[in-house]
Amino acid sequence: MDSDILNRNETPGAGGAETRPFAADVAQILKLMVHSVYSDRDVFLRELLSNAADACEKLRHLSLIDDTLAVGAEPFGIVIEVDGDNGTLAVIDNGIGMSREELTENLGTIARSGTRAFVEALSKKEDGSALIGQFGVGFYAAFMVAKEVVVTSRRAGAAEAWTWRSDGAGTFTVEPAGDDAPARGTRVTVVLADDARDYADAFRVEEVVRTHAAHIPVPIAIRTAGS
Ligand code: ADP
Ligand code: MG
Repeated sequence: MDSDILNRNETPGAGGAETRPFAADVAQILKLMVHSVYSDRDVFLRELLSNAADACEKLRHLSLIDDTLAVGAEPFGIVIEVDGDNGTLAVIDNGIGMSREELTENLGTIARSGTRAFVEALSKKEDGSALIGQFGVGFYAAFMVAKEVVVTSRRAGAAEAWTWRSDGAGTFTVEPAGDDAPARGTRVTVVLADDARDYADAFRVEEVVRTHAAHIPVPIAIRTAGS
């Protein structure tokens, strides 16, 4: 076994897998998400859908000034795929996507402007569900219902795709994505915690979408895996 080659594969930026700690503020938010019980965990889906719609909007805007992005004829859309057997819910968009660097920065390393204010506001209020969207920390709401979150993304126009994953406990990893990566955009797969497996049911999800995501400006379809 050539250990030298294995080491080189682990070097950040060399194309291999990489493990990183969350920024301190982000780690604090994750702890609050995991350990606090909010009255309304449904908001995690609203946040993932709003990110998916933002990503479509961003690509729509960018493609107006950059025709190499080749948006093509495929309309913007969001699919929620539920899988009751595996206990997962995935939000899939064909928006702008994220590069390896964007996955790392946007989902964990840079302490984001809203985080400290969010933590302060949350410590004064009993229910944080309304605060989550307000302070721009929406993605982390997925950890209210997740054992693990897996984000596979391909930036529009990029050859390579990347997978970010974390159980929310302090670190995340980024590695090259497998063959099932989206052709463009992002798939956020929530591996549901045992007490949140009802979100892998299409009827339950439809109810949440009607209640919390009626304002989302991109069409949303719900699909059951295997059907
Ligand atoms: P906000 O949406 O308020 O910026 P979030 O915590 O919801 O905060 O998301 C953090 C960032 O992660 C977003 O600003 C965006 O850059 C990136 N992001 C999250 N989801 C997606 C997605 N589906 N497609 C592209 N980028 C995303
Ligand atoms: Mg958001």
